[in-house]
Amino acid sequence: MNNPSPTIKLSVVIPIFNEEPGLPQLFERLYASLDALHLPYEIIFVDDGSTDHSVSALRDQFEKRPEVTRVIILARNAGQHMAIMAGFARARGTYVVTLDADLQNPPEEIGRIVAAMDAGADYVGTVRKMRQDAWWRKSASGLINRVRERTTQIRITDQGCMLRGYHRNVVDAINRCNEVSTFVPALGYAFARHPVEIEVGHAERVAGESKYSFYRLIRLNFDLMTGFSVAPLQFFSMIGLLTAVASLCFVLILAVRRLIVGPEVEGLFTLFGIAFFLIGMLLLGLGVVGEYIGRIYEQVRQRPRYTIAAVMEDGIETQTVPVFKIERRRETVE
Ligand code: UDP
Ligand code: MG
Repeated sequence: MNNPSPTIKLSVVIPIFNEEPGLPQLFERLYASLDALHLPYEIIFVDDGSTDHSVSALRDQFEKRPEVTRVIILARNAGQHMAIMAGFARARGTYVVTLDADLQNPPEEIGRIVAAMDAGADYVGTVRKMRQDAWWRKSASGLINRVRERTTQIRITDQGCMLRGYHRNVVDAINRCNEVSTFVPALGYAFARHPVEIEVGHAERVAGESKYSFYRLIRLNFDLMTGFSVAPLQFFSMIGLLTAVASLCFVLILAVRRLIVGPEVEGLFTLFGIAFFLIGMLLLGLGVVGEYIGRIYEQVRQRPRYTIAAVMEDGIETQTVPVFKIERRRETVE
């Protein structure tokens, strides 16, 4: 069931979290652009614990196009990147493309990703032309991009753009990873031999709101930084080292002054300033260490990363969680 199939060339994996209002448009444009490619494809929708009617919309679409549609319903919200991992684990295509459900990246561009892979790329990254997002998100992600460039081996221009292509070799490597908190574009890049980048269009969300609050974005970027680099830890060791050397010099100067000038008591507030600054750095450093330890803790418990409640594929729906639970979940929202 999960094995790659030589007959399917392209799998498109789409994570869905409460995207009900935008789904009709997504279906319309996505199927039309994939049909136009004239190649054997499948679409894997991964419902990431939606609490609206996304699941029923996906079920209707599955009934309409059962030959190319597969739906994985996760029991609970596991996060966009885990949902994609669940899709990757089941994808059968030689090429796997990820796409967001909100149509911010046009599905019409998938053909260009396929063409780049036909030309020999095993990882096709994308750069958003004229990104249509809030200014604070654009500047924050520009900053994170620069930090990531300097602290990791990952060389991608626009890490946040999820419309990307991964060759089967890369997908198999990703599937062997059992990471709890990860960032799929960076992980894929780490295994790629011939990565390329192309420019793609970008639009505003067709419906609904971003599923990322400011807090969730910070968490996601911590996943990226801690998952691919230990530079934040090294940064604090370096600061520690510099402070120690500076304090040593300071003590020596004070000792000499004590001998020449005699006892001094001025500069109390400067001392406060320096002490508070160092306490702040200390807490921040402790927090960074905590971020790593928390992730190590989550990883060593080895709990399943996501649970699948139901799967619709090959024309049938298999439910692993009893039917009434999936249905009741939807009813409670009404
Ligand atoms: N998403 C998901 N689980 C989550 C959050 C988001 O599956 O916990 C999906 C969401 O439905 C969408 C994609 O991930 O298809 C990107 O989310 P969104 O558009 O909200 O992110 P943004 O474009 O604001 O970065
Ligand atoms: Mg979006």
